[in-house]
Amino acid sequence: KVELKNVSKSYDSKTDVIKEISAVIEPGEFFVLVGPSGCGKSTMLRMIAGLEDVTGGELVIGGKTANALPPSKRDLSMVFQNYALYPHLSVEENITFGLHTKKIKKAEQKQRCLEAAEMLGLSDLLKRKPRQLSGGQRQRVALARAIVTHAPICLMDEPLSNLDAKLRAKMRSEIRQIQRKLGITMIYVTHDQTEAMTMADTMMILNNGEIQQIGRPLEIYNNPANEFVASFIGAPP
Ligand code: ATP
Ligand code: MG
Repeated sequence: KVELKNVSKSYDSKTDVIKEISAVIEPGEFFVLVGPSGCGKSTMLRMIAGLEDVTGGELVIGGKTANALPPSKRDLSMVFQNYALYPHLSVEENITFGLHTKKIKKAEQKQRCLEAAEMLGLSDLLKRKPRQLSGGQRQRVALARAIVTHAPICLMDEPLSNLDAKLRAKMRSEIRQIQRKLGITMIYVTHDQTEAMTMADTMMILNNGEIQQIGRPLEIYNNPANEFVASFIGAPP
């Protein structure tokens, strides 16, 4: 479980780009953070990951205050927009890269890699280099790299934004299936309201660092809290 208690963030100690946000993200839930460019989505996710300091309020992960916990001590994995694969390493080496520092035995690494590759249709591509892959395949490698950590919480920041519409739709349902199968908690960032509506158990709509509404997609669609929400998700007036 991830809890945000009046969490705020300012980069310059003058303006808050995240303003006293409170929410509870339940275990096993697919939680989507959605809103227009610059509203604070990546900042929020990076605070949860420990890549940015929380400047106000409390972040609680698994029942413990995590404000000062280093990223490596937070039991979570993260997938970024630009995949960040190592060009000189094979697919297999890219997938298991993060496991080296965790002192996981070679055989166990191999096993986890094969499992993740199977799940994502990468089994035949393990010896290739990233440049020998399509965009969608590279994206799958990035997902596999998160899966092999066996972390109970996964954070994704616009992971599908570089893909064409058709592949994006396919990957949405793949990510959803894998998340269900593994029972992990997902915190997923997108600026695309369709993506949010189709993927979320719960969605949080942000604007200017403030929560506009939080709830199930259909509830929000049928009962938008304000004009911003209505127009953002294209709900009928
Ligand atoms: P996008 O959809 O474009 O990725 P976002 O919702 O992820 O947008 P953030 O990247 O969280 O938005 O940025 C929120 C606000 O914080 C923006 O006004 C941005 O300019 C500002 N900001 C982000 N990173 C920094 C930083 N390192 N230093 C100062 N200001 C920053
Ligand atoms: Mg962002």
